[in-house]
Amino acid sequence: MAACEVCGNDYWMAFEVRTVSGDTHTFDCLECAAQKLAPICEHCQVKILGHGVEVSGRFFCCAHCARAEEGDRGAEIRDAVGARPA
Ligand SMILES: [Zn+2]
Ligand SMILES: [Zn+2]
Repeated sequence: MAACEVCGNDYWMAFEVRTVSGDTHTFDCLECAAQKLAPICEHCQVKILGHGVEVSGRFFCCAHCARAEEGDRGAEIRDAVGARPA
């Protein structure tokens, strides 16, 4: 048994997440893990749960938000989800 560090729930299926910095965190569910660890889009402030877009160390939820903040350089950013038009 381990307690979730976000909500405190002591749950038998709690799990650990190790981040790139080597820190280990304990959560009872993915929502709590996202609450603690997911980066936040600098443009629209949603939590980034998918791949997202990283530009110069700034995180965005999608290409649209990256273009909105990064101006000219953002024009090169493309979303790469879904079928490519023929
Ligand atoms: Zn929790
Ligand atoms: Zn966004």
